[in-house]
Amino acid sequence: MHDLTKIVAANLARVRDEIATAARAAGRRPEDIRLIAVSKTHPPEAVAAAIAAGQTDFGENTVQEALTKIPLYASVTWHMIGHLQSNKTKFVPGHFAWVHSIDSLKLAQRLSRQAAEKGVVLDALFEVNVTRDPAKHGLAPEELAPVLDALLKEDHPGLRLRGLMTIGPYPAPEADSRACFARLRELRDECRKRFGLRDFTELSMGMSGDYAAAIKEGSTMVRIGTAIFGERDYSK
Ligand SMILES: *Cc1c(COP(=O)(O)O)cnc(C)c1O
Repeated sequence: MHDLTKIVAANLARVRDEIATAARAAGRRPEDIRLIAVSKTHPPEAVAAAIAAGQTDFGENTVQEALTKIPLYASVTWHMIGHLQSNKTKFVPGHFAWVHSIDSLKLAQRLSRQAAEKGVVLDALFEVNVTRDPAKHGLAPEELAPVLDALLKEDHPGLRLRGLMTIGPYPAPEADSRACFARLRELRDECRKRFGLRDFTELSMGMSGDYAAAIKEGSTMVRIGTAIFGERDYSK
C-alpha cells in the first residue's frame, strides 16, 4: 500500500476516535457529528486516500482549487467552506452540496438564483464572526437576524437554510474557544425559534486544533484538514 494511503487512513481513524470520545464525554452520539475532511492545498491523491478509508465529506476553501478535484470524485459530498467572491458563486451549485460561508444577503440571493437556474438546492450555512476578528469573514452576530429576516421575506428557491458556521479563536485557551462555540449555538437556537426554521439545526464549528471543544458545545459538523492530511505547504 502507498504511504499516503496508510498515513491518511491512520489519521482518519484517530480523528474519528477523538470525535467519538468528545461526543460521549458530552453525552452526545458520535454519529451526530459529521466529519468534513478539508483537502485544500493537498493533491487529488490525498482525497483518494481518504475515500479509500471510508471518508464521504470533503471541504475546500476556494472554488478554483476545488474544481481540480470535484470532477474526479463526484460521488462524495463537497462543502464550500471558504469566503466566496460574487464572480465565483456560479460554480458552487452543481459542484458543492453545501455552502458554509454565506456572509451577506446579496451572496445568499445570488447563490439561490444560480442554484435554482441549475435545478438544484444548496444546503446553506451562514458564517458568523462571533469573536469580531477583523482578519475573519462572516456576519457580525447582530447582522444575522436581519439578513435571515430579509431573505425569508422573499423566495429563495435554491437554498435550504440549515444553520451556522464559525471559525473559533485559535490559538486560545479552551474556555475562550468554548465561549465562542456556545455563542454560535445560542444564535442558532434563537434564529431557529424566531423564524420557525425546522431544518436550521447545523453548527459547523471545530477545526484540527479545537474540535473537541466545539463538540462539547454542540458542533454537528467539524472541518478538519491538518489532523487528517498533515501540514499544508503553501510554497508549492
Ligand atoms: C483550512 C480550514 C479548515 C481546516 O483547518 P485545520 O486547522 O487544518 O483543520 C477549517 N475551516 C476552514 C474555513 C478552513 O479554511
